[in-house]
Amino acid sequence: MNLWTLLADQPLFFLSMAAVFGLLVGSFLNVLVHRLPIMLERQWRREAQEALGLPSEAHAPLNLCLPASHCPHCGHRIRAWENVPVLSYLALRGRCSACKVKISVRYPLVELGCAALTLLAAWQGGPTLQTLAMMLLGWCLLALSLIDIEHQLLPDTLVLPMLWLGLIVNAFGLFVPLDEALWGAVFGYISLWSVFWLFKLVTGKDGMGYGDFKLMALIGAWGGWQVLPLTLMLSSLVGALVGLCLLRWRNASMGTAIPFGPYLAIAGWIALLWGDEISTFYLQLIGLS
Ligand SMILES: [Zn+2]
Repeated sequence: MNLWTLLADQPLFFLSMAAVFGLLVGSFLNVLVHRLPIMLERQWRREAQEALGLPSEAHAPLNLCLPASHCPHCGHRIRAWENVPVLSYLALRGRCSACKVKISVRYPLVELGCAALTLLAAWQGGPTLQTLAMMLLGWCLLALSLIDIEHQLLPDTLVLPMLWLGLIVNAFGLFVPLDEALWGAVFGYISLWSVFWLFKLVTGKDGMGYGDFKLMALIGAWGGWQVLPLTLMLSSLVGALVGLCLLRWRNASMGTAIPFGPYLAIAGWIALLWGDEISTFYLQLIGLS
């Protein structure tokens, strides 16, 4: 029996494989989310220094593989058994094995979140190529959301390749026909761009960033123009709810910048995964079907 038939015939085996795989990818996303913004900032500084004719700063090399994972407090190099997703955190009781400083709970949470979305995609789609694509999209959207929350930045190095990939997978008709994907990307960008300029003309403030337009174009490229209204509706709904909670609990003022990217990412992924079900439910709710 080959792996494919095993995955197709044994749903429980397939789902547990997906969960374990999601945990491992989540572990990698922790590295990506932490290091990519630092790598980008160094690159921008280097370019600015070159353009200004200033001497460039020297840094220890940093990329996604180097240096090996270590404790940010004492530099203790993390051994293989300390790097098992979630389990190591529990075994170490959330502390570095050398200096006993607390490890952020964010690491196991990201791993669990990544496993959850991988499992959702697997459960919804079964062992198909679409499911694999949905997982890949989910992982990238999770990474983008985390970077956006921390740095108010949606890096082009992640957004643009994923936008192209959306068009490419739909060139093979994976989710929608290619023309719908193309117009999805176009209208995705234009829709938020128009909101941005309208908001700016009325209030004189920047309501969101250019990264949000590109992210919306990405979602349109994957799900076609059809997912855009639902994505906008869901993201505004979730954004308004979370915004109200933040205002209440954290005493943030109305002018506090709250990144919009994570809401778009969550809404877009949900719209792609359950768009049909949500639309049907909504139409039944208002008595149209
Ligand atoms: Zn340490």
